[in-house]
Amino acid sequence: MHPDIFHKDFSPTPYWWEAYTPAAGALSDVPRTARVAIVGGGYAGLSAALELAKHGIDAVVFEAGELGSGASTRNGGAVSGGVNVGKSFTGKTARADGAGAERILSDACDAFALIDRLISEEKIACFWEKPGRFVGAWTQRHYGVQSRRLAMLNMAARSGAYMVPRERQREEIASEYYFGGMVVERSGKLHPALYYKGLLDACRRRGVLVCAKAAVTRIGRLGNAWQVETARGTLSAGDVVIATNGYTGTLTPALRRRVVPIASHIIATEQLPADVARSLIPRARTLSDTKRVLCYYRLSPDNGRMVFGGRARFTQVDATVSAPILHRYMIDRFPQLRGVRVTHAWTGNVAFTLDALPHMGCRDGLHYCLGCNGSGVAMMTYLGYQTALKIARVANYACSFDSEEFPDHPLYSGNTWFLPIVGGYYRLRDNLDRLLA
Ligand SMILES: Cc1cc2nc3c(=O)[nH]c(=O)nc-3n(C[C@H](O)[C@H](O)[C@H](O)COP(=O)(O)OP(=O)(O)OC[C@H]3O[C@@H](n4cnc5c(N)ncnc54)[C@H](O)[C@@H]3O)c2cc1C
Repeated sequence: MHPDIFHKDFSPTPYWWEAYTPAAGALSDVPRTARVAIVGGGYAGLSAALELAKHGIDAVVFEAGELGSGASTRNGGAVSGGVNVGKSFTGKTARADGAGAERILSDACDAFALIDRLISEEKIACFWEKPGRFVGAWTQRHYGVQSRRLAMLNMAARSGAYMVPRERQREEIASEYYFGGMVVERSGKLHPALYYKGLLDACRRRGVLVCAKAAVTRIGRLGNAWQVETARGTLSAGDVVIATNGYTGTLTPALRRRVVPIASHIIATEQLPADVARSLIPRARTLSDTKRVLCYYRLSPDNGRMVFGGRARFTQVDATVSAPILHRYMIDRFPQLRGVRVTHAWTGNVAFTLDALPHMGCRDGLHYCLGCNGSGVAMMTYLGYQTALKIARVANYACSFDSEEFPDHPLYSGNTWFLPIVGGYYRLRDNLDRLLA
């Protein structure tokens, strides 16, 4: 514990929960039948249910905890239009080179358009803005790699991306930390918990039943229907959608083997003096970097606090462990914030896949949308939506994330004992890169 960094009112809960705290509400009874059962009540599950309702298909969403207790009210609220798609947690770019890359980026770009439209159509008050993103280059070589991706990003994802050399970096960030970087104009930010609440309200307006505290414990076949057993009753459904992302468990072992849950951690600082806050990120963009163990950060919606996230550890740890590490990372970038205290620190799970791509599809008869790979505000909303279109049979084109190929590994069954070792190794590689730069 580093008492000097903790504010006297410190809370180990997401800053976002001050606006919407996950709650179970009045527990509705589990109905006996529904056309579709959805497991997981995050962005993906709600977005699927909402789109199904728009097509007149009744869906019931089952959430194990309170509504919004997964990653969807815990994230940084940075919304990307594809810049990260295909990047593994090692920082490497997977299948996003070569033939399929253009389509993958183009679909990721559609995910951005979808969230933009949804927020407007459903009138979701979630501080949605599109100021763009700055991705700082950790080394000169990374700057070169970023420059070579520009043409592809601009052509396929209409990113509006351009390079900012080190001499002009202060236009983007009050720091000398990077070797310049890339601006991606087509990026946004929002208040993640208010966006979640807006989706939940939209579902309820359309009569979608969302059952909190209803962990699905078993899914089995009975005749032509699925029997979905939950902690609060059993439902019979025609289709089932698994939308459990970083919380995918033993309910679906074949899917669990295909996603690696990795913890991500965030701190929020106390309110900063207005002139200091404004000076840190002059264009109020979201920021991230090209390190393998990257950090992502932004100002809070009132532009008053720094909300700073990263992989302080690759596993869930107590906020008293993650907060000092993230505070140090923040000071590395903004030495001027030394002495600023932390009011909130929290953590949540993201799901990485072995090919670094998000996936939707059907396995053993169950639909799934999984694998945000760290960037899922737009993407998981989109995969839920695309899964709904598929079930409603109105999709007139196959989304490129809908693929039969969803790789697993013979040595991985869902136990992530290796993550601390991987985390340490990539931190070492990051440091070596910089030393040799
Ligand atoms: C700290 C952090 C920072 C992030 N920052 C960003 C960011 O800035 N930008 C971005 O784009 N993305 C970010 N992400 C990722 C983003 O939050 C996720 O991709 C997204 O919220 C995933 O939505 P989802 O609906 O797929 O899953 P979740 O919101 O995680 O929901 C899955 C739900 O499934 C439930 N569940 C699991 N098993 C069962 C069961 N058997 N029965 C019933 N329910 C079950 C869980 O309880 C959980 O609530 C971040 C994530 C974290 C954790």
